[in-house]
Amino acid sequence: MQFQAEAKCIDDPEQLAAIYLSKYFGNQRIEYPINPFQMLKDEGVLFSLMDFKKLEGVYIPASGDDDIPIVGINANRPITRQRFTAAHELCHHFRDADKEISCPISGKKNAIESYAERFAAALLMPINELRNQVRRRQKNGRRYITYDDVLEIADYFGVSFEACLFRIAYRVHAIDGNTESTALRKRAAKYQPEKERKKRHFSYAKLYVGLIDCYREQLSFEPSDFARNLFQTNYIYNDSRMEGLDVTIEQAAEIVTDLRLNMQNSEYCTEENEVYMSIAGHHDMYQDIFAVPVKDSLSVYDMFPLNKKLFSHYPYPDYGGSTRQNNTLVIGAKFETVDYNDIFTELSKIDAEIRDFYNRRTEMPMSEYIKHVARIHHWITVVHPFPEGNGRTSRAFMNVQLVRAGMVPIYIKVEDKREYIKALERADKEKDYEELYEIVFKLILRSYIDLNKSI
Ligand SMILES: [Zn+2]
Repeated sequence: MQFQAEAKCIDDPEQLAAIYLSKYFGNQRIEYPINPFQMLKDEGVLFSLMDFKKLEGVYIPASGDDDIPIVGINANRPITRQRFTAAHELCHHFRDADKEISCPISGKKNAIESYAERFAAALLMPINELRNQVRRRQKNGRRYITYDDVLEIADYFGVSFEACLFRIAYRVHAIDGNTESTALRKRAAKYQPEKERKKRHFSYAKLYVGLIDCYREQLSFEPSDFARNLFQTNYIYNDSRMEGLDVTIEQAAEIVTDLRLNMQNSEYCTEENEVYMSIAGHHDMYQDIFAVPVKDSLSVYDMFPLNKKLFSHYPYPDYGGSTRQNNTLVIGAKFETVDYNDIFTELSKIDAEIRDFYNRRTEMPMSEYIKHVARIHHWITVVHPFPEGNGRTSRAFMNVQLVRAGMVPIYIKVEDKREYIKALERADKEKDYEELYEIVFKLILRSYIDLNKSI
């Protein structure tokens, strides 16, 4: 309360951010990127990711002494913008806590809004540290830095390229050329910062860690009919399309139902209906994953019944659930799989790690557990234990690992496929998992929004 009274009297957002930072960190060294989600939490503000269309965020003050203030953040915006919005809403909490405020994405900003925007920039990119970062890159006494430099600095502070560029242009005056705002925005777009980031393999994983670890309670999950339906339509449809099966659930519904009811006696249980047999199997797999009560144990060998389910509607259902018996190269695989003689040795190593993480899951940050799930997923794709259906089985098994730990399961849309395969390849070739982590974090947040939409 005292700080809020003080904040109202400070006309300069730069000054307010500086005072808050020194109050928040005290004598401790500031660690970058600063985590504004943690700051909201520490100030007793509950934040929530929302499916907004036209708003960046909202601030809803506490209605009385036994209530707490709530902040909504647009879940559809990039993580850098979500962080910026968290910092922006923190400003409203300090200065405007007597009223509800909606913060629009675009349009002319009023005085309250532009104050909060400037506060957010100053909070996430403290001016002294920004000057340090710029100075380090002013080579040979040159005043101006390059866009590549700005990209690195934006990554260091966990902000968007544009936000960083503007602050450096106006506060440090280290950007050459026309820095009038429209021109600068155009120049930023032309540089294509996201493409440049990808080229350099910069990852937002660490920014998602900051969000997810402050959002653990909200990301908890228990199977419900709604979740089951969502996954049995969206997920299976997407995962089948990932495998190149071009069919919609609506088209398949009748045939799949017949297969599920009549099993091998169904008239569709023939080779030319493989697409439908696979979808029916997939359906059963998810029935299992979302079964209640959720089991409180986990093993890599839980993958075997999943793989068996996947093929349970095929003419020879015993085909599923057994391991690969040769080293025939997998068509389309971008990396080598282990020798089939080593499958069980590898699986036992994986199993030890899975059990260890599962037993310690409540003691570690949520992001740690999720990273482990991503690494195991990559490992299983390399072991490639089954003759067929490895992709679908290992993706389903990721969800077993998440659901058994009480966490939101994920589904990969066919549009995400390229990025997902590239991330797996990167993990494989460079032992660099950051891109894979980023993808899995993003997917968890997306499922969370989808799962909470209609409730
Ligand atoms: Zn606002």
